[in-house]
Formats: sequence, C-alpha cells, structure tokens
Amino acid sequence: MGGSRAGFEAEFRCGIGYDSHRLEAGRKLVLGGVLLDSPRGSVAHSDGDVLSHAIVDALLGAAGLGDIGRHFPDTDPRWKNASSKLFLDEVRRQLAGCGLRILNIDAVVVIDEPKLAPHVGAMAGNLAAALGIAAAQVSVKAKSSEGTTPMIAVAHAVALLAKVNSS
Ligand code: MG
Repeated sequence: MGGSRAGFEAEFRCGIGYDSHRLEAGRKLVLGGVLLDSPRGSVAHSDGDVLSHAIVDALLGAAGLGDIGRHFPDTDPRWKNASSKLFLDEVRRQLAGCGLRILNIDAVVVIDEPKLAPHVGAMAGNLAAALGIAAAQVSVKAKSSEGTTPMIAVAHAVALLAKVNSS
C-alpha cells in the first residue's frame, strides 16, 4: 500500500467493553482473577468477574468478533460457575488465530467495597498472564461509586490491538 514503510504495514484496532453484576451477601467476589475478601459477591452464571468480562468484550470488539454473550452464552451449562480465565484463554486463542496482537488494555472497576487499590497489581498480573502479555500492558484502576450504586460491580475496558502484515 502507498504510504507504508517498505515491507511493513500495521493495522490498529481499538475496542470497548463494559460489564456489570449485582452484588449479594454470601457470594464470591472475583475481580481480575483475584478472590477478594468482601461482604458481598457477584450474582452471575459464571464467576461474575466483571473486570475480566469487560476486557473480553473490549478484545472481541476490537477484533470484530462480536461479544461475550455470543461466545460464552449464559444458557450454556459449560460456563456455569466457570472461571473467567477460560474466557480469556479462548479470546487469546481467537486473537492469535486472526493474527492480532494486544498492545495494551486499560480498565476501570467501579465498586464501593472492598477497596481494590492493594489488589490492582495482582489483577493486572493475572489478566496479563492469561492473555500472554506483559503486566505493563494491562492497566487496572479502581473507583468508588461514592455510595450511588453500592450493590453493583461495574467495569469498563478499552483495548488496542495490532495486526502486522509483512509483505
Ligand atoms: Mg459478566
């Protein structure tokens, strides 16, 4: 293509993801693969990891592969109580199959308790390991809803992918 450097052409693709789950006493709270000590946890078919789910949707969206509901429907018994690492593993395979590489992911989790700041590094590490990238390529930020939605866990994520075509 005109304008590309000799023998090298990269296509960049960005994606956005969002997820929310209701929180209830007596449920587990897993975020970014970290099991947190929390008075409430996610009500969900799978492990209810909103952070992983938002990232899966950002990656699928960037790749033009639809969304998490299409790949992992909550009507499928295979995904009942499933670890979201399985979703990340599958997305990693699909991206590789399309020749797409993750450049970076940025995510925000909105939850009032517990405080996530001490855990965001472990979350980024888990997510990066599951996706086969460096922890420095994953950013996880924690916000409080300031009491406006104390019974909901929410996550937003963006992802940037690159497809490198050699010619
Ligand atoms: Mg979800």
